[in-house]
Amino acid sequence: MDCNGCNRCTDVKCSIETKCQQLDRSLMDKWGAISFPIYQTATFAHEGLGQSTGYDYTRMQNPTRKQLESIVAYLENGIDAIAFSSGMAAVATIMELFKPGDHFIIDEDLYGGSIRLFNEISTKNGLTYTAINLSKEDITPYIKENTKAVYLETPTNPMMNVTDIKKLSKITAEKKLLLIVDNTFLSPYFQNPLDLGADIVIHSGTKFLGGHHDTIGGFVVVKDEKLDERLRFIYKTTGAGLSPFDSWLILRGIRTLAVRLDRAQQNALELAKFLKLKKRVTKVIYPGLPDHPGYEIMKEQARGFGAMLTFEVDSAETAKYILDNVQLIYFAESLGGTETLITYPITQTHADVPKDLLEKNGINDRVLRLSVGIEGIADLKAEFNRIFESL
Ligand SMILES: *Cc1c(COP(=O)(O)O)cnc(C)c1O
Repeated sequence: MDCNGCNRCTDVKCSIETKCQQLDRSLMDKWGAISFPIYQTATFAHEGLGQSTGYDYTRMQNPTRKQLESIVAYLENGIDAIAFSSGMAAVATIMELFKPGDHFIIDEDLYGGSIRLFNEISTKNGLTYTAINLSKEDITPYIKENTKAVYLETPTNPMMNVTDIKKLSKITAEKKLLLIVDNTFLSPYFQNPLDLGADIVIHSGTKFLGGHHDTIGGFVVVKDEKLDERLRFIYKTTGAGLSPFDSWLILRGIRTLAVRLDRAQQNALELAKFLKLKKRVTKVIYPGLPDHPGYEIMKEQARGFGAMLTFEVDSAETAKYILDNVQLIYFAESLGGTETLITYPITQTHADVPKDLLEKNGINDRVLRLSVGIEGIADLKAEFNRIFESL
């Protein structure tokens, strides 16, 4: 593992598990607090004219946020990470890089909120896009003179399509398109898109990075200085920075990223195999199953398969029955926390996605999504056994 210019240690190249424990020593407070302090201040005093401490106003910089940004940049092998008040604020800020008339290519299976942003806000601002299945289709015929970027998630939400980032990046680099990857589903623990040729990585920090469903946050990570400068300028101007307290919560969440994800992934694989054997379950989509079409690519480009699992049942009634009868699992939106959540994409995360697109992607009223947590696997299985037996 490359330390990517980290100055925390001089001759050790540390693992990602260790990286999660490393505060940026150059940003430590003067007392050496290991739980990094929450700098709950809007503004900072200057010692004299032209003598800034590097912190002026929290919309622009804040020590707690900077500590967090340094760690996220380190985990993603970027030169900078910018922390936002939500994942959507991160995506919306990236859209400010473009001007009316610009075109981008997106994957057709994306987080519903991102699709809503592109449809309702970006389009109004004069951007145009083409949505295709990037896991299957070549982008070349869709590139126009005004195409500026390609935007994707892999695996996708909720259908778990896997795109070969490295292969795609060869084309985007040649055509000078920005390759933007939302890496929320795997987190930097399992996948580093910048190393595979992406230009921008996005995270909803609300999910695995925060890890406890107690805060909302987002990140943009880059490896190019010019792009970073431009994004920092938009950031300080539009003002969607993450608050000091929320920065602290995500800093704390990252400490356990590795152990949480190892356990959640182990549970997800077990549960995927288990659900596959159930009569009422007609399809299980988990990229860690060898029959998943993206399995081989994931093995190449990621260090794991994650903890997200989608399954389809025999009828809408069965789906509703499961949602009505979960006890240990929470029926809730979101993902990436320590507890297992079940989501109904058609009425929750993807409620604002146009019907034809839902149909095309196979998101119907029989599809359920699980964000698998770190509970005892026997209890999760018992939950489903109880529900299926009472059907
Ligand atoms: C949740 C999510 C977002 C949006 O993040 P918020 O923190 O909810 O604003 C974007 N992309 C993906 C893949 C997500 O799961």
